[in-house]
Formats: sequence, structure tokens, C-alpha cells
Amino acid sequence: MKYIIISRDDAKSKQIENRIKSEINGIYCDKNPDFVIAIGGDGTLLQAAHLYPNATIFGIHTGHLGFYCNYMEDDLDLLLSDINNNTFKIDEIEELRCDILDYNDKVITNYALNEVTIVAPTRTLRLDVEISGEYLEFFRGTGFCISTPTGSTAYNKSLDGSVIDLKLKCLQLTEIAGINSNAYRTLSSPLVLAADKKITLNAIKPNDVFVTVDNLSYDIKDFKSLNVYYDGRKVKMAYHNLESFLKRINRTFSISKEWFLWREIFLLNCFYYYF
Ligand code: NAP
Repeated sequence: MKYIIISRDDAKSKQIENRIKSEINGIYCDKNPDFVIAIGGDGTLLQAAHLYPNATIFGIHTGHLGFYCNYMEDDLDLLLSDINNNTFKIDEIEELRCDILDYNDKVITNYALNEVTIVAPTRTLRLDVEISGEYLEFFRGTGFCISTPTGSTAYNKSLDGSVIDLKLKCLQLTEIAGINSNAYRTLSSPLVLAADKKITLNAIKPNDVFVTVDNLSYDIKDFKSLNVYYDGRKVKMAYHNLESFLKRINRTFSISKEWFLWREIFLLNCFYYYF
């Protein structure tokens, strides 16, 4: 069994990396590894998924958010036992394919676990939006974010997109600063579409844009169109016990009763201090 480790650059993650290297039954190898062990948070896991798309990924959470990580820091013994005894299970997460086309007919294709975004940071972007060949709207603004259910808690959430249950198969189109006035009108709401739909964004004229695919970005000159859809490619995530969706949301965004209690204590303390 060949494995590789990608870890965040902090003392805790490095310590875990050293322990895994000394206790794992396998060969450390960066050419077509069977397993990638990503130690850190979601950023580290996204990096792993892009570098080794065919490998099974073990995500270990060492602080930060870790929405994707199925093993906590305290689960290190369990993770080693799962790898050494082959007792892990696999959760497959479908990725979004994106094809970026410019006016010179150059095509760039990549796959996103979280989202694909398109932005024109300085000039407004003018796009015709089509869903599986049907016209939706003319958009003018900064851009769009198109996310998977697992990516719905990432950039999409900061744009007031909906958080989607991981069991639902769909893709979500969320505007980034669409212009709404007497001159321009867009849907404005996030649009959740069935997984068999293809989103196409066509430039009205050649434009310079940035397209991001998770943690990667492309500077596209003379952008012509972007197609985003599922084509069946999946990332394999290893787990022992899969945390429920709501527990994961709760852990990642601290929306527990305790959070409100601590907030109340903090506000009361502020009140007594000032009056
Ligand atoms: P990063 O700084 O490592 O990631 C930004 C933050 O997003 C981190 O706190 C990360 O969690 C969290 N995150 C990533 N995927 C998530 C998910 N599915 N659910 C909940 N939180 C998630 O930057 P990076 O390594 O380049 O990662 C790229 C990602 O950053 C993109 O895919 C995009 O979603 C996100 N991003 C967000 C914004 C925004 O919200 N305004 C803007 C740009 C990019 P960890 O701390 O666990 O790593």
C-alpha cells in the first residue's frame, strides 16, 4: 500500500504526521498513492483532492473548521488501525466539472469539490445565463459562485447561499454582487438545481476574468463561456463513523446553546463594566 501525507504547517499537524509515519504499514510515495492523509482543515483536504484525485483521502482535523475531515485529532489510533487493518469505509463525493472556454477556443477543464467561481473584479461582468440550454437571464455584476452540497458551507455561505443537506444531489448558482436597478434585473436569490442540469455562462463580449476552482485560480483573458455540471467523477473520503450532517454543521459553525450562553455572559460582563 502506497501513501502520502499532506499536512498544514503547524506543530500539532507535524507531530501527528511523524506519529503516522512511524506506525503505518505502507510505503511513503508521491507517485499514484493509494491513500492521502490530509492533516489540518478543509484547505489541506482540498489541496489533497486536487493533487491526488484517484486516491482515497483520510482527513484529520487539527483545529480550524474541518468540515470535510472524518477523523478528529483524538481519533489517531482509530485512523491507524483503519489503515493497517483495512477497516475503513468510503464516502464518495461527486465533484463539479467546469469547462472554461476563451475566444481563441482554448479550453481548460477541472473539477471542484467545493465550488467554481467566476469574477471580474474591476469591470462589471455581462453574462447570459443558460440552464441546460434554456435561457434564464442576463446578468450584470461581479460574478457567480456555483457550488456542490459539500461546498454550500464554504464561499457560497458567505454569499448568503443556502446550506444544502449532503444527501441531496444538486448544484447551486449564487450571485456575487449582481446589479439590480431600473436598468438591470437579476433573479438575486440563490438557485438550487437538480444534479442533471448544466449551468452555462456566456460572455456578451470578450472579458478578462478570474475563474476559481476550490483553492486554484485561473486568470482568463478573452473569456467566452463557462460550463459547470456533474459528469460522474467522485472523490473517495475514508471514514469510520460518519458524522451526521447537522452535527457537522453544529461543530463547524458553533450554533450550540453553549455559544448563546457564553455570548450572554460576555454581554452581561460588558454591561457591569460600563455601568
Ligand atoms: P482557506 O483560507 O484555507 O479557506 C477558507 C476557509 O474556508 C477556511 O476556514 C476553510 O476551513 C473553509 N472551508 C473550506 N471548505 C469548506 C467547506 N466545504 N465548508 C466549510 N468551510 C470550508 O483557503 P483555501 O485553502 O484557498 O480554500 C479555498 C476555499 O476557500 C474555497 O473553496 C472557498 O470555498 C473558500 N473561500 C471563501 C471565501 C469567503 O467565504 N468569502 C472567499 C474565497 C474562498 P479550514 O479552516 O478547515 O481550512
